[in-house]
Amino acid sequence: MHGLMQHRPLTIPTLLSRVETNFGHKRVITGETTSTWSDVAPRVRRLARVLDHLDVPVGACVGTFAWNSQRHLELYLGIPSSGRILHTINHRLYGEQVTFIVNDAADDVLFVDRTILPVVWPLVSSFASVRYVVVLDDGGDFPLPDDPRVLDYEDLLAQQSGDPLDFAVDDENAAASLCYTSGTTGNPKGVLYSHRSVVLHSLLLLGADVFALSERDVVAPIVPMFHVNAWGLPYAAMQCGADLVLPGPATSPEELVTLLSRHRVTFSAAVATVWRDLIPVLADHDLGSLRHIACGGGAVDDALSSAYERIIGIPLTNAWGMTETSPVVTSSRLATHHAGLTGEDRRLLLGSPGPAVPLTEMRVVADDGTLQPRDGSTPGELQVAGATIASAYFGADSGADSFTTDGWLRTGDVATIDEWGYLRIVDRTKDLVKSGGEWISSVALENAIMADPRVREAAVIGIADPRWGERPVACVVPAAGTHLTGDDVRAHLRGRVASWWIPERIELLDEIPKTATGKWSKQTLRQQLGARRAD
Ligand code: AMP
Repeated sequence: MHGLMQHRPLTIPTLLSRVETNFGHKRVITGETTSTWSDVAPRVRRLARVLDHLDVPVGACVGTFAWNSQRHLELYLGIPSSGRILHTINHRLYGEQVTFIVNDAADDVLFVDRTILPVVWPLVSSFASVRYVVVLDDGGDFPLPDDPRVLDYEDLLAQQSGDPLDFAVDDENAAASLCYTSGTTGNPKGVLYSHRSVVLHSLLLLGADVFALSERDVVAPIVPMFHVNAWGLPYAAMQCGADLVLPGPATSPEELVTLLSRHRVTFSAAVATVWRDLIPVLADHDLGSLRHIACGGGAVDDALSSAYERIIGIPLTNAWGMTETSPVVTSSRLATHHAGLTGEDRRLLLGSPGPAVPLTEMRVVADDGTLQPRDGSTPGELQVAGATIASAYFGADSGADSFTTDGWLRTGDVATIDEWGYLRIVDRTKDLVKSGGEWISSVALENAIMADPRVREAAVIGIADPRWGERPVACVVPAAGTHLTGDDVRAHLRGRVASWWIPERIELLDEIPKTATGKWSKQTLRQQLGARRAD
């Protein structure tokens, strides 16, 4: 027998109607510009009509290359509410990856901030399916290309009405948004969120033991809206009616701290590199309104957290997640059994990932498939499951290897879980380097280095870095009889990979240590380099 409750699909248009009905007066701030949800909602309807006017098919992907801004928020609402799929794209990826992603998603129309156009426009001829490039004029002086495919966002909106519109997404399992993540080998992989998963994730962020977001908060997602939907924070702010503060393209440390201070922000989230860059300017501003600073996407080091505790009075908290997991799966917090913790112990606990949030499950599994005990002692592969977690990748390669036969996601992280359910990440099995919150594929970098005929072998490993979290180190074996320097390798890489992928440290070796099966033994390399550095 079924329960007798109403079936109301969990969909993104319900968020739009919620903010407009209940929180029309609440603020949406981009840099210097303040609007309210009453201003934004009619613009979302205009946008939906623009998509109809441009004949964008229902179910098609619509790409965005945009900073955190009100206009991007309008796209977050208007694209999925009108039945299309919001495809956020990271413009910091290198050109070939961007081209692959746009073509793999078969984006029909792109919405591009004018300040990002210099990166996107040179690639447009490689985009097979894109019919229009709609420019969001966020400033800058990049000349608008004289091309019939280029349209202006405000012009298009002005031609349409903002009158009420019946957004009907009947199926809560319909695709709402798409975000690509780095593949360890090969191309990036798409994660396709549903309306239901987005709404459930937005609700779980509100939990008192997660981020405890409420109508009284002023939420500033610094984490980019092109990276896992800014951790779902824009949608969570809509659920609870918090004010939203978005930095736009102004992301220097001084600009960010000024924004947090001026708008009396209470909750903000970013990766460790961003929080670290802010330290020198923290003391010059009144940040007394901040009650929670979340740091995710990587580990929180205690030097960073203690600097925040010393200068503004609160430490950072940590959260663990992936693009595949919407992303938040854990959020650190003090529980009853931590009542006695003080000082450094308390800070260290808050700086670790913490327990699973509602609707998600975690387990740690040994190589032979057996479950590791939940006593914090024995690491294994972290696997996760839940309604906000991917069941397959988008596209032809569904990434079956990344999922277990009983449907759990294999994370590629090595972890322990203690008796209280608290997660600790101890290592990573995937061949990726996370630098400043963004991925560098070791394999892609190795291939780019080995494309140089002067190179016999190359292996790339991630080494801890005080500013970026990790940086790639390239270990290169020159071809026989060849003289090669680190500068030669860097010169070869320029233009072949994104500039921030190019390793500062290049080790020229006689050979790369191998495992019994002939693969690079990156563990041995790490030990060798560590030892070498200590000399
Ligand atoms: P992404 O899909 O780009 O968000 O990256 C997800 C990956 O980032 C995870 O699989 C981890 O390797 C890493 N990561 C995320 N959060 C944390 C954390 N709190 N501590 C350590 N590593 C993390």
